[in-house]
Amino acid sequence: MSIRIDKANCIGCGSCVEACPGNLIALVDSKAEMKSIRDCWGCTACMKECPVSAIGYFLGVDIGGAGATMHIEREGSLYHWKVDFSDGTQKTITVDRKNANKY
Ligand code: SF4
Ligand code: SF4
Repeated sequence: MSIRIDKANCIGCGSCVEACPGNLIALVDSKAEMKSIRDCWGCTACMKECPVSAIGYFLGVDIGGAGATMHIEREGSLYHWKVDFSDGTQKTITVDRKNANKY
């Protein structure tokens, strides 16, 4: 599992740096950068905090198909998990984070 940071969209807010429990992301010239991509275990904490959807996640073949990527678009308390498949189709799963830890 690994993530990819789109530096062109990154606004350098530092939220992902603070969110990563493994201290794997740094700000370099006001842009987020992975310090050690190999150590990322795909917890998605950085993605959830990014206000501009600049962090993408590569899905494994077993769960998303080869070439599928995922990103999160935030809307108030809602997280829209968007999966882009290699055939050009997209799937969205919406979760209200207020209720996410209820069960
Ligand atoms: S997915 Fe988790 S472990 Fe990987 S960089 Fe983001 S916060 Fe860190
Ligand atoms: S949270 Fe997003 S915008 Fe903020 S530094 Fe990280 S990648 Fe850039």
